[in-house]
Amino acid sequence: MSEDYAALGLVAGIEIHQQLNTKEKLFCRCPTIIREAEEANGEFFRYLRATKSEMGELDRAAEEEMMQVRQFRYLTYDTTCLVENDEEPPAPMNQEALDIVLTIAKVCGMTPVPEIHTMRKLVIDGSNTSGFQRTALVAMNGILPGGAEIETVCLEEEAAQRIEDTFFSLDRLGIPLIEITTSPCLHTPEAVQETAAQIGMILRSTGRVKRGLGTIRQDINISIREGARVEIKGVQELDLISEVVRREAQRQVALLEIREELKKRGASIEKTPVDVTSLFSESKSRVLKNASMILAIKLNKCAGLVGREIQPGRRLGSEMSDYAKKCGVGGLFHTDELPAYGVTEEEVVNLKAALSASPEDCVIIVADKPQRCQCAIKQIIRRAEMAFEGVPKETRKMLEGGSTAYMRPLPGAARMYPETDVFQVRVTPERFADLEIPEMIDDTIARYMKEFGLTREVARQMAYSERRSAFEEVIASGIKPALAERAFNSTLRELSREGILITRIADDDIKTILCAINSGDIAKEALSPILSALAEGKKPEEACEIAAPKVTENELTLIIERIVTERSDFIRERGNAATGPIMGVVMKEVRGSVDGKVVNQILRESISRVLKTP
Ligand SMILES: [Zn+2]
Repeated sequence: MSEDYAALGLVAGIEIHQQLNTKEKLFCRCPTIIREAEEANGEFFRYLRATKSEMGELDRAAEEEMMQVRQFRYLTYDTTCLVENDEEPPAPMNQEALDIVLTIAKVCGMTPVPEIHTMRKLVIDGSNTSGFQRTALVAMNGILPGGAEIETVCLEEEAAQRIEDTFFSLDRLGIPLIEITTSPCLHTPEAVQETAAQIGMILRSTGRVKRGLGTIRQDINISIREGARVEIKGVQELDLISEVVRREAQRQVALLEIREELKKRGASIEKTPVDVTSLFSESKSRVLKNASMILAIKLNKCAGLVGREIQPGRRLGSEMSDYAKKCGVGGLFHTDELPAYGVTEEEVVNLKAALSASPEDCVIIVADKPQRCQCAIKQIIRRAEMAFEGVPKETRKMLEGGSTAYMRPLPGAARMYPETDVFQVRVTPERFADLEIPEMIDDTIARYMKEFGLTREVARQMAYSERRSAFEEVIASGIKPALAERAFNSTLRELSREGILITRIADDDIKTILCAINSGDIAKEALSPILSALAEGKKPEEACEIAAPKVTENELTLIIERIVTERSDFIRERGNAATGPIMGVVMKEVRGSVDGKVVNQILRESISRVLKTP
């Protein structure tokens, strides 16, 4: 596939959602902490009516099925209140959250709106108990140093966490969320990823955003010339963004090629399904044998196209299957990939005969209960018709590796209306001017390299670390940067790789240990065993005792003499080169409780005595 994205006319933009690490939620005073489902203190039900727009233009039967009133179940906690339950009006907007969003807007050179109006955005998937999400436009028109344009920055409330299909947890509902939207100004997969990285860097620079999986989500909008706008939802891995864009461009190119091929062949779709249930009554395919109905349709002159790969692991048939699955069926079979899955050659011949299909045609079948089958076959016909148009406008979800699957039609203009329960907030020029701009992490990295002599990689690790402020504090108090970095970063990383739970180690305890090392009470070699003792829940004093029992200089001399005597042959053989290996043995025995320099000095004297003795 061509790498010339300019020739393809690639246009992309991103929308980043990041949870803010405020004390309280956006419209109530509950804490913004995530709970385990087992900690729930109650649950309740809500009935929400899903509207037909979710499914686009569907037939009446399917539409009615979707129009059914759905029951949603919600878990409550001692950290949620009646606002999350939608039984009490929202409190005024959290000003701490607003300040964070305004700060980010200021970093991006944006203009705040003079008056912030909270709006209601309809949400019908049950993730909001109220049936809408509150959202407020905060600032507009910014530009990133790399040139990407930021269109808007909004402050929103986070949705409830879905546990399964219609079951939600309310701990997450109402956590403040910043939404940053770029204009469709990006033209290569790399530019999209770099822009996402840059926005991520700005967000992290505030030091006031939540961290960890799921706290940041990227939506990517992509189209190519003659393609269509496709929105890919919820990309969580930053490193996969360019791949997602590449694969979507590839998919749109492939769909346009299929469109041309369909035209060239004079292909068409037989819109009347044929009941082929009886053909598979003895099938080895359990799905087909057990189905109460099997429907088939013929795509004239489409052989080879339904099975054509349009993205790694995805075919045109996969797209049709996604549409069919909306009706509750497990998937579909098509003759481009048959015989397979227990379907025999003979069954394929009979199937093609039943539909009068020639080798140039493709036959698709679905098997399930009659109602689902009928719904699914209509969806397949609908998607097949779209293949003649090229690329459908869709919202898609990411699959592992960066390919995507159909989720729902692209929503029209967001259905929003004013939230009258929340007062508007005026942002005075003074308030905006007074906001302090935090040091950008890219600048922090440069400073750590220059002032502390760290390598770029280590400086980067330290700048992004949650222990960054503790690290800076100990350096300010006189600890050498190299030692501080080892304590707050490198050693912790090594321990973490060994499977030790380093999150249990408090910054203050590390500070205590560093002070003890600095005053000469313990040797810096003991850092690693002491930190792992802290991870086991020991107090700093205990950890020092266990990991590094005190050894007096006298004891040390005796230990060294014994080790040297035991290895005198080795020493005579190697001469002074024996110092290194024996040093290791001694340090291991004293478990880092003594300064390496002292050990080295005594050891050298001891070794030279051995070497002088005939
Ligand atoms: Zn609450």
